[in-house]
Amino acid sequence: MPNTVSFSRHSTNVFFHILTQCNLSCRHCYINSDQQGDQILSLETITAWLKVFARSGKHSNLILLGGEPTLHPELDQVVKSARHMGYGSITIDTNGYLFHDILNKVRPHEVDYFSFSLDGATEATNDAIRGKGSYEACTAGIRAAVQQGFAVSLIYTVSGGNIHELAFMPLLLKELGVRRFFIQVMGLRGKAAGSGMEALQVVDRAAWTTVIPEISRQAARLGIPATYPKVFLDPDEPFECAGLVAENYFIFPNGRVYRCPLCEDYPLHSFRMAEDELVPTEKINETDLFRLQIPEGCVMNKLLQPGNLSYRDDGTPAYKIACCMLKEEISGT
Ligand code: SF4
Ligand code: SF4
Repeated sequence: MPNTVSFSRHSTNVFFHILTQCNLSCRHCYINSDQQGDQILSLETITAWLKVFARSGKHSNLILLGGEPTLHPELDQVVKSARHMGYGSITIDTNGYLFHDILNKVRPHEVDYFSFSLDGATEATNDAIRGKGSYEACTAGIRAAVQQGFAVSLIYTVSGGNIHELAFMPLLLKELGVRRFFIQVMGLRGKAAGSGMEALQVVDRAAWTTVIPEISRQAARLGIPATYPKVFLDPDEPFECAGLVAENYFIFPNGRVYRCPLCEDYPLHSFRMAEDELVPTEKINETDLFRLQIPEGCVMNKLLQPGNLSYRDDGTPAYKIACCMLKEEISGT
């Protein structure tokens, strides 16, 4: 049985986009540099901002993101600074190109996970979404990281263009030496919004609640715990908005700090970094939206991607859409 992973009240998750540049141009990329900035943050600024989020006294998890974070020439120094500040876990999300010889500049005890993104079990499917050569680069990067003793996880963003290959992933993960499997649902953000990707969005409840848990169970049986967004809630299941009950911060190079990833295409951020301090933004911002209670569950989902909602004849929702950060987890134990 999957375990629903409730939002933690005792830890802080810091999703830090240290730049938005990338060597790839994936079809579903959620980065929107018009809204998020195109600066490459200096090591000095990154360190100053990391200190702000380390101050809470809670256990803090740091996820370093881009763009492609390994394009930052001082990523290794960022990792070492964060360790020094006491971040409890550090993950580097990467498309697998591993620039600046990063595997030789950090040590396995400094990085909890390198998290690779692969969107197909075959080169044809992955490269149609992420670009020519990206399958080979990603799988070569995984092998190199595993060989050097790093723990590796893999993120597979499910869409209508690759759901048919999900069944091949558990064995591929095992063969590559991947330790954790994260399945994501494609969101209509960044480049995917308004670009015709709607047709590829997998939001069908039947597919999501049968295919995804089954593949996750298969991975778990091979010893690879799998995590995926819950997405759908029965009308009587409790709904919670992580923006109100959890400490998640999504930081961008232009200083915007969001609490909800679905808001990142809009100037709705709750905070901004000003003179290296976290400052609340004026109303109206995402926090005002979090407080709206609607029978469909997540407010931002209803505003941005209402196509995944369904209604009964009497006009009431057939189900609620969960917070995008609510996860199910299946492990082999
Ligand atoms: S999805 Fe990631 S790897 Fe792909 S273009 Fe965007 S930032 Fe780069
Ligand atoms: S995804 Fe929806 S429920 Fe989750 S933080 Fe954003 S607005 Fe709240």
